[in-house]
Amino acid sequence: MSMLSVLRKIVQEVSTAPDLESVLDLIVRRIQRAMRTEVCSIFLLDSVQKRYVLRATQGLNQEAVGKVSLSMTEGIVGLVGQRAEPINLEDAFSHPAFHYLQSTGEERFHAFLGVPIIHHRSVLGVLVVQQHDLRRFDESEEAFLVTVSAQLAGVIAHAEATGSINSEQHPQAEAKAVHDRRFDGVAAASGVAIGTVVVATIDAELETVPDKTPHDVEQELHSLEMAMEAVRDDIRTAGRSLAQRLKSEEQALFDVYLRMLDDPALKTEIEAHIRAGNWVQGALREVILGHVKQFNAMEDAYLRERATDVRDLGRRILSYLQESAGPMEVDYPDDSILIADELSPAMLGMVPENKLVGLVSVTGSGNSHAAIMARSIGIPTVMGVVDLPFTRLEGRKVIVDGYSGRIYVNPSEQLLEAFREVMREERLVAAGLEGLRDLPAETTDGYRMPLWVNTGLVADVTRSLERGAEGIGLYRTEIPFMIRDFFPSEQEQLQSYRSQMEAFAPRPVTMRTLDIGGDKALPYFPIEEDNPFLGWRGIRVTLDHPEIFLVQVRAMLRASEGLNNLRIMLPMVTSVHEVEEAMRQIDRALAELQDEGYAVERPMVGVMVEVPAAVYQVRRFARIVDFISVGSNDLTQYLLAVDRNNPRVAGLYAPYHPAVLRALQYIARETRKEGKPVSICGEMAADPGGALLLMAMGYEVLSMNSNNLPRVKSAIRGVSLARAQSLLSQVLRMDDAEEIHRYLRRTLKHLGLGQLTRPRLPNQQEPAEDDPDCSGAD
Ligand code: PEP
Ligand code: MG
Repeated sequence: MSMLSVLRKIVQEVSTAPDLESVLDLIVRRIQRAMRTEVCSIFLLDSVQKRYVLRATQGLNQEAVGKVSLSMTEGIVGLVGQRAEPINLEDAFSHPAFHYLQSTGEERFHAFLGVPIIHHRSVLGVLVVQQHDLRRFDESEEAFLVTVSAQLAGVIAHAEATGSINSEQHPQAEAKAVHDRRFDGVAAASGVAIGTVVVATIDAELETVPDKTPHDVEQELHSLEMAMEAVRDDIRTAGRSLAQRLKSEEQALFDVYLRMLDDPALKTEIEAHIRAGNWVQGALREVILGHVKQFNAMEDAYLRERATDVRDLGRRILSYLQESAGPMEVDYPDDSILIADELSPAMLGMVPENKLVGLVSVTGSGNSHAAIMARSIGIPTVMGVVDLPFTRLEGRKVIVDGYSGRIYVNPSEQLLEAFREVMREERLVAAGLEGLRDLPAETTDGYRMPLWVNTGLVADVTRSLERGAEGIGLYRTEIPFMIRDFFPSEQEQLQSYRSQMEAFAPRPVTMRTLDIGGDKALPYFPIEEDNPFLGWRGIRVTLDHPEIFLVQVRAMLRASEGLNNLRIMLPMVTSVHEVEEAMRQIDRALAELQDEGYAVERPMVGVMVEVPAAVYQVRRFARIVDFISVGSNDLTQYLLAVDRNNPRVAGLYAPYHPAVLRALQYIARETRKEGKPVSICGEMAADPGGALLLMAMGYEVLSMNSNNLPRVKSAIRGVSLARAQSLLSQVLRMDDAEEIHRYLRRTLKHLGLGQLTRPRLPNQQEPAEDDPDCSGAD
């Protein structure tokens, strides 16, 4: 077998192991065999004790497992960890760092190769192979071990995380290190929440079913029986009615399903999980996904295919279980923290608003649209917590730290108190900002900066008006489209647009034409692409579907009848001809409506600058439209080539990157040369520091989520335009986004606006530059 197939096989097998112990055990056994070495061991870093503990071995004394450990600077293992690179020695004993581990029996082995196990840039542990002979492991062996370690790091991290969560249910198992278990993700909406987990289940999706303790075991067993019987009936009926039309191999598929259902083993296994303390849906998930993994790991292609069948069967059973349980009559706790595998804008409405205190998503990132909406409703949110074993957390207490993007499971009283203190501070700051509502956003030297809002949810309107918004700079029309089962009719759209426009009149309302694609999907209009952010998105979709575009524009125009506060905005524009084409359609809709007798006037039409191509043509656009508005969320992702939805590269998504700042400055200058207004509606405008820079660049309107408006207003009122301009010129001399960020924070503190930056958080080492006494800001 080639090394590549060996590798694949190991990874697959390990991925199906049920818990950390078996994961580690399998790894050492398989590697030892594949490399034909005498010893293979894994040392994992215990983050509480800060020591590498021997957690599995093949070849050393088994009794030493869990007992023997090394400090982070001890032994060659410590050195591998410190250097985060492999160390390959012909004779470990003669190395100055060698530290003899008693009771392991390692005195017999000379040759040593250790490679670090690295996950998300941090060393989880060290993988070691040893051999009696004096010899260096050769290059291909070293390469093999490095590759296995890189591939397995994620599996180990995940198993470790799940293990630490599970052991809470069995306190006697691993009593230590279970408090304050921390999971890192991406900060998505600031604020701190302490609450009880509710897992968002998606209909018939096994992966999202949480574990729960059953109320009545007999009842769960009965439900299983009924659901399996119902599926059996369905399959028999479908098989009979299709019998004539099916080829024999297709017919065989029905037989496979029936055989699986009839096989008592499957049912017995699920029943065992129920008796062991899981509810029927959770037990079904455990068993079915376990089998799916096993089939996936098989070498035989035919057997691998069975994974799909098992999963499909599981889904069918789950559907019946969910149906008989009725529409989940969940009794949401008053402090619900909703955790989803993939948080979608539609899910935000799942929990009643007054009971939702925090949001967590395993996938997605800080600029995913669900995150943007979470910011707008002001719910602390963490996205991209990729290692979170979320199905195990139902009903657990957690802390959501939306400032640093962290979740703490099973928090200690001490940590809870520290975060409660942060929440008390937050309330004080918010109360201090309340008085700003009727005051203008005016700098100390009298420059008036209009602050508008971004909307989409119904609740946004009242909130925005309460906070003193002077217009809507971006109404994301796709949001009402997303929470439906089919495209809304012209009349339905008219009603929802009219209510926004009436509520805001005579203030301007900027309606963006449908911006779907990317991470915004309509359930009834799926777009499946490999690179959705570079694909069929925004205006590209609506120009290809004039019927959708025209209906929407007609609804917008009719909604503005008698109010005349409409501005239409086009998203994701790359070329002049797209704008011309869209303008033709808008003119056509206008003419039609006027013919039909509606008293509609031509609205202002503008273009969003969101892709680099639009930056360099901004003057051309400015000549043909009425206004320019920058979508800095997308512009940042496209300029930096960083997917805004991908947590793996979230650290690289930097709105303060010098390239982004220069582009923003260029757009403002070029547009003003044409005498057209330029505004910004990306999230950068919602950051107090960012708002000051944008004002200094000459942006005439800042549009943001209503939640941040008071902070931005406070920042503007606390500074002169001249000071903001000098801040901008300082910042534009810097090369590094992080440096710029720090500098902005420092400046705000220096200006006495420190309360607008993030508070000091527990468990965090604040960088020295954050010191409020730092005087480098001038
Ligand atoms: C943007 O891209 O900055 C923007 C405002 O649009 P959205 O976030 O909806 O893509
Ligand atoms: Mg955009």
